[in-house]
Amino acid sequence: MKTLSDVVQNLGTNDSPERFKRIYLLLVFSSLILILALSFTVITRQNRENLIENIGFHSEKTALALLSSESHIIHTTDRDGADTLAIHPADLAPLDLNIRLFLQPFNIVKIKIYNRDMRIIYCTEPQLIGKSDRSNQRLKDAFAGNRQTVLKERQSVTDLSEERRLDVDVAEVYAPVRNQRGLVVGVFELYSDIGELKKSFREHLHSSVGTIFIALVLLSLASYIIIIRESAALRTAYQLLETLATVDPLTGIYNRRQLLCRAAELYSLMKRSHEKLPAGIGLGVIMIDVDFFKLVNDTHGHLVGDSILQELSKRIETMLRPYDVFGRYGGEEFLLFLPNTSRDEAKLIACRILNAVSGEPYHAGELSLKVTTSIGCTWTDAHDENLDAILRRVDNLLYEAKNSGRNQVVCRL
Ligand code: GH3
Ligand code: MG
Ligand code: MG
Repeated sequence: MKTLSDVVQNLGTNDSPERFKRIYLLLVFSSLILILALSFTVITRQNRENLIENIGFHSEKTALALLSSESHIIHTTDRDGADTLAIHPADLAPLDLNIRLFLQPFNIVKIKIYNRDMRIIYCTEPQLIGKSDRSNQRLKDAFAGNRQTVLKERQSVTDLSEERRLDVDVAEVYAPVRNQRGLVVGVFELYSDIGELKKSFREHLHSSVGTIFIALVLLSLASYIIIIRESAALRTAYQLLETLATVDPLTGIYNRRQLLCRAAELYSLMKRSHEKLPAGIGLGVIMIDVDFFKLVNDTHGHLVGDSILQELSKRIETMLRPYDVFGRYGGEEFLLFLPNTSRDEAKLIACRILNAVSGEPYHAGELSLKVTTSIGCTWTDAHDENLDAILRRVDNLLYEAKNSGRNQVVCRL
């Protein structure tokens, strides 16, 4: 079964507020990066899809408007039993002029018009007129009735080898045009300069991601402040729990469980570093028991008994070194572990404790009481025994002191 002390020790290593805070920060930081990366990807993809759809739609409308305004020049004629677009060579010069005037307000930088044989019957680059492009898959798809749109950065690729490259980012749209029966008779290929559009989409992307970033940072900051406050409260609760689990409430020194834990740590550390210890240096163990304490309680009451236990533990505490381990072993029994101590020092400290706790009277209200103690004292270098055996030995020595008349130290080192 888990004790309170086990729970507290686990808290210290696994669930402490500090660890909780670190995990929270890590989570916030990684979520921030993940959300920003996702937003960036989703918005960029959406912008691109919108761009393709918008440009495709408007280019198709422009092609139809151009065809209807120039229908007297770009006419539909029947060839081999099927309709196709045609332009009389003499009309090319006026058509070119008209088209350039027509396209001026738009961002269209180049146009090709194909007849049903996939031959160019008009182009803003005159050297391309008469060329055919039958291997162009997108052109074939447009002739099948499907509008095609592709984005090209600085027009990296051209359809025909004679074609000039455009030094701007373009959207290339193949827009099918139909006769009155709805059959595709030709295709307009329009190149739109999308530099400005891309710039405004980029600005939109930056402002969207920036807004998301600021919102996330503010949100994280707010929750971090809450976490800090809560973890401060948790830390206080944790410290209180730790105190409750390890400290004896009457005297403020280690309780039995913590005392034995710390003693076991000391003992195993000494066993591990046995080789390195200077000769004659080991662990002094002292057990102290108040004489006739039941009588004190019976005569003066438990509160007086309590105040004597408090005073006695204080007197011993003031004599200790920072690394000594001292605690309440039982009712009126105390145990003291003295690491890095020689046999003589252990004996000397035991005698000093006897004088300190038995010499001066204890004051409780009006009362001034003389209280004595009996002390067992031993020493080990952790060479060939265990902690239980040492505790049994010091217990026996304490009872020897009791049996020999009390108020004395019995040492066997
Ligand atoms: P001995 O000299 O043989 O040790 O006699 P003793 O009376 O001290 O020993 P005994 O074991 O008979 O009695 C111990 C007493 O200590 C009994 C108990 O009431 C008292 N005691 C234990 N814990 C406390 C405590 O926290 N407060 C008070 N006031 N008394 C306590
Ligand atoms: Mg006693
Ligand atoms: Mg006792």
